[in-house]
Amino acid sequence: MSPAVIALGSNLGDREANLRGAIAALDAIEGVTVTAASGIVESNAVKPEGSDAAAPDYLNAVALVQSELPPQYLLDELNRIEAAFGRVREEPWGDRTLDLDIVAFGSLASDSARLTLPHPRAWERPFVIVPWLQVDPDALIPGVGRIAALDAATSSEVWPFDAAALFEGATR
Ligand code: AMP
Repeated sequence: MSPAVIALGSNLGDREANLRGAIAALDAIEGVTVTAASGIVESNAVKPEGSDAAAPDYLNAVALVQSELPPQYLLDELNRIEAAFGRVREEPWGDRTLDLDIVAFGSLASDSARLTLPHPRAWERPFVIVPWLQVDPDALIPGVGRIAALDAATSSEVWPFDAAALFEGATR
């Protein structure tokens, strides 16, 4: 079993239902157990040129899981769940019903294009760091340091989204 950190995002369709369904789908993967989920945060879409207020806003959350699957197989499962939620890969920064990223997998480092760990841009993304802090205030990114000390941790670019808890505790 390895602990892994999964970032969830949605800016199309019923965004809250997409995140809620994704948490349930994660927990339903054979060999994967969700142990915690953050609250939901909302933020403007980010494109390569910066924040894009014309695009639909994102809802994001972070889930902690325990995985018996090796990281490549976990990523395959995340891609399958994205597809099940109607994700169409049109452009890298495009709007999406569901985005699932592996932010960290234990302390593993990997630099293949298919799977880069820790996720190379997580540390600068408030919509990952703010919800991650909610579920693990002491989290570290190898090579970066404590996430609580990052600029992204205190960013005003994300705000809380009022919703019922995404996850009520261990389901099995
Ligand atoms: P995205 O469009 O953000 O879902 O990016 C997905 C692409 O990033 C896929 O080609 C993945 O194989 C690749 N990728 C690299 N590292 C990771 C990671 N840690 N988590 C999720 N996808 C990753």
